Amino acid sequence: MLERENARFELRQGKMQLLSPVNDKTVAVLFRGEGVWHFSPPTAIEREQLMRFYDTDSLVKSFNTLFLLFNDTTLSELEHKLNFESGGDIEDHAKIIDDIFDYLSDEDVNYFKSAVLKFLLDGSNDPYFYAHLYSDQSEPFIFEINPFEYEMVRFMHRAELAHVYKYPEIICQYPAGEEKPGASNDLIRINEFEIDAKIAGNLDFAGRAQLTLTTLKEKQRWLYFNIYHGMEIDSVILNDSIRVGFFKPEDTSVFWVDCGTYYSRDALIKLTVFYRSDDLLERDTRSWIYLRSPLYWYPRYNLWEPARYRLVFQCPSDFTLVSIGDRIDSLQTGDTLTTVWDSGTPVTHAIFNLGYFDRYPVAREGMPPVVILKTAQGLLFRSRDIETEIAEDIMRSIAFYQRLFGEIPFDHLYVSEIPYGLGMAFPGLLNLSWNTFYQTGIRGYDQIFRAHEVSHQWWGIEVGFNTYHDQWLSEAFAEFSGLAYLQSVSEGEYLYGDVIEELFELVISNRKYILGKGQEAGPIWLGTRTASTRTEGDYSLVIYKKGALVLRMLQLIMSDPATGSDDRFRSMLQAYYQRFRGKRAGTEDFIRVVSEYMDEDMRWFFDQWVYGTDIPQYEYGYRIDEDPEGNYRLILRVRQEGVPAAFRMPVPVEILFENEELPAYRDYILVDSAYVEQTFTLSAAPDELIFNAGHAVLAEWDESDFEEIR
Ligand SMILES: [Zn+2]
Repeated sequence: MLERENARFELRQGKMQLLSPVNDKTVAVLFRGEGVWHFSPPTAIEREQLMRFYDTDSLVKSFNTLFLLFNDTTLSELEHKLNFESGGDIEDHAKIIDDIFDYLSDEDVNYFKSAVLKFLLDGSNDPYFYAHLYSDQSEPFIFEINPFEYEMVRFMHRAELAHVYKYPEIICQYPAGEEKPGASNDLIRINEFEIDAKIAGNLDFAGRAQLTLTTLKEKQRWLYFNIYHGMEIDSVILNDSIRVGFFKPEDTSVFWVDCGTYYSRDALIKLTVFYRSDDLLERDTRSWIYLRSPLYWYPRYNLWEPARYRLVFQCPSDFTLVSIGDRIDSLQTGDTLTTVWDSGTPVTHAIFNLGYFDRYPVAREGMPPVVILKTAQGLLFRSRDIETEIAEDIMRSIAFYQRLFGEIPFDHLYVSEIPYGLGMAFPGLLNLSWNTFYQTGIRGYDQIFRAHEVSHQWWGIEVGFNTYHDQWLSEAFAEFSGLAYLQSVSEGEYLYGDVIEELFELVISNRKYILGKGQEAGPIWLGTRTASTRTEGDYSLVIYKKGALVLRMLQLIMSDPATGSDDRFRSMLQAYYQRFRGKRAGTEDFIRVVSEYMDEDMRWFFDQWVYGTDIPQYEYGYRIDEDPEGNYRLILRVRQEGVPAAFRMPVPVEILFENEELPAYRDYILVDSAYVEQTFTLSAAPDELIFNAGHAVLAEWDESDFEEIR
């Protein structure tokens, strides 16, 4: 019996073989025989995650093969508990091991290999543990404790649809018992990047990246980084003086540097990496230039850890090149253009975009300068004046967000076209899809898209987020901001109302589909983990779309029912923005600010909508009574289903009068149990009640016969 972090391995009978030692140390064993694995994750969210995939909140799995790889006390525990007899090797052990290693050899799982190589190369005592188990008829389960990862414990299974590739997909992930809350477990922190990039006329790329970093753990000699897999490393220099060893297996995105000496914690190291690629940048016939790896064109460690950047680019002078932060220098010598950029404060990513751009500067009183960069001859049939339409949305959304959230967090903005179907926002730079440079669609989505990217200057960049759990503080906020912008510019609510209805349809139909078949979508708090090979679209659906609707509900709850004023919501957002400018926020931070402005612990709202997955169904009916004095009473009954009985939401109702001259009566009904009834006293004859007016609460609702509802 072996126990590790909520997992128990029972070995009933069979044969165990110690695999060849590495550096005189046994780090792996193979077991064939009879065994059972028990697993029950410690938190409700992870148990629900197991439920989604396996219809149970604790797994019991029989196995006949178990492979263990470890750097902890596994071997001595096994030796203590089992009687080892010599009996020769396990039959076919080489083939079994080979098969198991297929799961470790894919590019996508480099994190695993990196961890194993790390403790083997450094000879450290970090308590790594990896178990791969299966019975002959089933796909394998993998259970890992990786001391170098944020949330060390992972349960994985073979990714569905991975007919050819064998790679593990994470189902559960949580901190180990001894893990400090909020600890990143990073091995190093890169404080500063100085990058010199040379781009030749044929788009060959050569880089020199100087990383100033701090070690965060004792006894480190080997360091690993991620970089575009097509990059070739030429040399690595340590502390400006010593040429050190490195290796990067072909076509992988991890490369290792051997510092040649052991560093203790808090050591300051400077590494200079010389590297190049002839396919990082590519041109197509329409003169568009593709940057194949926007995030890995320089060595990376933790993508979300901010660092200071100083960037120098050299490129042929017929190109325009834009990057992040401030352009502090620009020099043309012959046919070469050199530009120098400085991020100022630490930021998470550096990126650049280059092309044959037409420049359209936009200057408006009291606004930072904006430059629209449209590819010259990029598209044959663009809308005429597309740059004017884009500029209009950019300028209007900046002004709108300035009023809604607070001070503009940048002093200039480049808006450049990229030949990809997505948008990316960086400090002072937006890269927008060619789609939105083609024409402005009539359904409002281009306005949302452009404004979404603009609002990232506030949400995601100026106010960062802690971990993948909190990414909705960037993406849901940006999508909500995009919707709010559309509402502010769309006449008569027409476009906006349609978009909201479409979003409801998407979020609710996805849920219906998954209830019938496949598994339910995870909560917003799961972040990127909501997407799996079975539910690929869930990340954008849950984090962006459902997230935006959740913020819209919060806006509703914080609004005055009679006047509709959302002043309290705006003050709350502005306070949150001011408090977390230049910092990273977590979900709990936001809950605290909301609670403060509501004078109430608002956890219930976030438990329901961010940590939970329930969506209510309402059945409502009403009756109108008139008394002898000519007063009217409207009695509304609501039955709530599909959620726990205590699920609560104030649902807006709008009562229209027979006399159409009278303004509608607006109020809420608080639905907080399976059945509620509320009476509205009115001084004129009501004609009709609109339940959940304005598609406020994310729900399904249907009108029924009044008497039937109880
Ligand atoms: Zn976004």
